[in-house]
Amino acid sequence: MNIPQNASLLGNDKAEIMLDEFNISPSKFRADSFLMLIIHEFEIRFKTIDISSTDFCGVMINSTNQFFIFVNSNLAPPRRNFTIAHEISHIFLHRDSSSFFENNSTIGEHTLLNNETQIEEVEANAYAASLICPGSVLIHLIEMQCSFKRIASKTQISYETLYWRIYNILVNINGMERKRAIHILENFRNNTPGNENISDVIRKRVSHNLFI
Ligand SMILES: [Zn+2]
Repeated sequence: MNIPQNASLLGNDKAEIMLDEFNISPSKFRADSFLMLIIHEFEIRFKTIDISSTDFCGVMINSTNQFFIFVNSNLAPPRRNFTIAHEISHIFLHRDSSSFFENNSTIGEHTLLNNETQIEEVEANAYAASLICPGSVLIHLIEMQCSFKRIASKTQISYETLYWRIYNILVNINGMERKRAIHILENFRNNTPGNENISDVIRKRVSHNLFI
């Protein structure tokens, strides 16, 4: 699993700066309202469109630096949030491109396993996951003893996003050995006790980095 570290860190930095600017406390964070604030702040034109096929996720169009995002209104909320975050990520990372069209093959963490996926899509997915699950929010909720499912429902992100975001912090950012990270992560996800508490591990490790 090779999550682009730069895109993850850039996404996290952007999220942390905007959490400060918008004065959002970690306990109040929700991906959907945070994304709407970003859309407003950067004057992005946003619209949902009713497309019955949920294979179509969304599109970003750059029309002489006016950015448009259209998202399928029939997606489940966590999927919809990830798609919006993905399109915003293209605007921040790939603004010289005129458009990106998304379906299930370009959106989501599974693209990280697929060498055929274009690098822009992989980067947008890594950036998007950091944007809708900022390090400070994640650490706060873990320290407040929120369960895996509670964090996902409170922040309005999918289990998949939350899983790979924690994995990314432990392994790709902090250099934890993969097997150990997965063991800790799966105990946390399944709400089963383990020898290591994720709260201690994430707090100790992340404090060595730039997340908080
Ligand atoms: Zn894309």
